[in-house]
Amino acid sequence: MYRLNVNATRPEFRYLYLDLNAYFASVEQQERPDLRGRPVAVVPMIADTTFVIAASYEAKRFGVSTGTRVGDAKRMCPGLVLTPARGRVYVQYHDRILEAVERVLPIERVCSIDEMYFKLLGEERRPARAMELALEMKRTLRDEVGQYITASIGIGPNPFLAKVGTEMRKPDGLVMLPIDELPPRARLAEADGFSRDQPPDEGQIERRGLVLGERPLPRGPGTPSPGVRLGGG
Ligand SMILES: [Mg+2]
Repeated sequence: MYRLNVNATRPEFRYLYLDLNAYFASVEQQERPDLRGRPVAVVPMIADTTFVIAASYEAKRFGVSTGTRVGDAKRMCPGLVLTPARGRVYVQYHDRILEAVERVLPIERVCSIDEMYFKLLGEERRPARAMELALEMKRTLRDEVGQYITASIGIGPNPFLAKVGTEMRKPDGLVMLPIDELPPRARLAEADGFSRDQPPDEGQIERRGLVLGERPLPRGPGTPSPGVRLGGG
């Protein structure tokens, strides 16, 4: 088991990255109680030839995800509810989310409508405190924005690795990723919006403060999983 000295300030925990889970679909479930607990696909228009913009976790279980053709999604997931995207509503929620999380920590950067990160300073870099802040942020989202608005939070030495943390456990995850336990290249590639087909080149990786191959992930049969994880699945 990975052990943290919860009281020491750790330079590894400099950034907290927040990624909202299945954002558009979650907002629809928050707004419309009739969609809760059901497989939902947010679509540009109701037509089999268009593509899913966002899928709820109930729909993801059937393999439906962003980019799935609507006709295929309906075949894959019986009972799938299609709902047209409502951009204005997602922007309103975005504003409410920023307001809520800013009560916990000042936002360092808003990366997209459903992603942002925060800088941890001084005492906030103690693992116990960093985790407390992450849990407080989740609580604030639930209490002030809505219980269907959940986020995966990653904590790491830089925004990139903190984001990798958010990718490791969804939905509602919390992963603290120390620098000496880097995930494999494929996951890094996926995590920063790169596709498997087009992984980042060495220059891109280096600009993010990583050197590929220098620190392989210390995992194998019987060895512990990295980081501290809560929630998710
Ligand atoms: Mg997201």
